[in-house]
Amino acid sequence: MWKIGDGTQVNICSENWVPGRGPLIYSQDLFVKLNLSKVSMLINHDGHCWRRDLIELVFNPGTTTNILSIPLSMHGGCDVFHWPGTSDGQYTTKEGYSFLRKLLARDEASSSTMLTLAPKFWKKFWASRALPRCKETCWRALSGYLSLKERLFRCRVDVDPSCSFCAAELEEEDHLFLHCPAVKQVWFASQLAVRVDLFSSFIEFWLAAVELDDDDAVATIQSTIYALWEAQNSICFQQREFVVAGVLQRVRSSMEEAIVRDHDRGPMTALPARWKKPAPGTIKCNFDASFHDRGPSGLGMVARNSDGEVMVAACSLPITTLSPLLAEAMSMRWTMQLAINLGFRRIYLEMDHAIQEGRSYLSSIIHDCRLLLSAFDYVSVSIVRRTSNTVADFMARNAETYANLVWVEEVHVAAFHLVISDVMTQLPVRA
Ligand SMILES: [Zn+2]
Repeated sequence: MWKIGDGTQVNICSENWVPGRGPLIYSQDLFVKLNLSKVSMLINHDGHCWRRDLIELVFNPGTTTNILSIPLSMHGGCDVFHWPGTSDGQYTTKEGYSFLRKLLARDEASSSTMLTLAPKFWKKFWASRALPRCKETCWRALSGYLSLKERLFRCRVDVDPSCSFCAAELEEEDHLFLHCPAVKQVWFASQLAVRVDLFSSFIEFWLAAVELDDDDAVATIQSTIYALWEAQNSICFQQREFVVAGVLQRVRSSMEEAIVRDHDRGPMTALPARWKKPAPGTIKCNFDASFHDRGPSGLGMVARNSDGEVMVAACSLPITTLSPLLAEAMSMRWTMQLAINLGFRRIYLEMDHAIQEGRSYLSSIIHDCRLLLSAFDYVSVSIVRRTSNTVADFMARNAETYANLVWVEEVHVAAFHLVISDVMTQLPVRA
């Protein structure tokens, strides 16, 4: 929900800003005649107070009371989003869930679309391992809270209500997320390979998906809805084109990002929290990748001997890649190649993400790594916590600045304290 500052960002009728859920009933004629669009037009900016007379004329008494109950700051300030259910305005998934529970209980008697969705449904919905932003977008789509063009048009926003993808029909949930010809192709080509013609509505499609009791399917659908919504946005705001393969790619990368996150949150207690020196006669290579969705990613590595001394540290050229997992795999291959060129024969490889196989484009990089194994006498690969991979992380994050730089027997001065800190933690602690 919007928290009103100066009201310049917020559209009066298409956005959620009035406390107390319910329709914003107003005198449509007057509304149009006065050409009201932004909330700022309802504020007297000299006194930083609501224009009570105007509000009483335009809105019904209930809505008027609700609007006048919104406190305005003397200093105006920006409009920001907040979560109205909590005192600090911070949104958490738990808050969202309890909000929905209340909403369901309240709507039980009405014929809301939410009624068809039982609490069991929402439990599975929020438990899926899709990214929070995917779940949230999907929830908004299911609840009719997305600003689809048909909805905006109904709220008298000056917009063409036809579908952003095909322009042939109205942009409503059932069409935009299910029945649009372009979208049907996405569903059919997705890993679900589903013919969405079988479903008459978006909600029906969802219920069927949840019946499958397959968390992967739920997460895939949530990620797909998000990717479709993202595509709609980039068509509307950036004049991009709709590309089926592009949408599928975005689905895969957000699914992978979710795997990586899960891993980061997983039971890591068994893994060493601090960097450890390798055994004498071996070199430990830590590597990492910094992944950027829409820009160059970086690879970074550092190789240290059994005394904790830096043998080599390097940043890659900025690379463009498709997913965080792929960036990690490319970092591994690049690190192994560097190690071979530097004549290391016995190495430990350490990274802070698990690379999972089974994705076609990942498997070719992993295959490369397997072939590189034969160049070494000994290789050990392990996953460590982020806290023991700080130097490699620094190199990866700075790959754009220090593109393709290699430091031999030293590191960049800005990473020096990280190296020292790794060695310091090795000192025996006296009781
Ligand atoms: Zn369409």
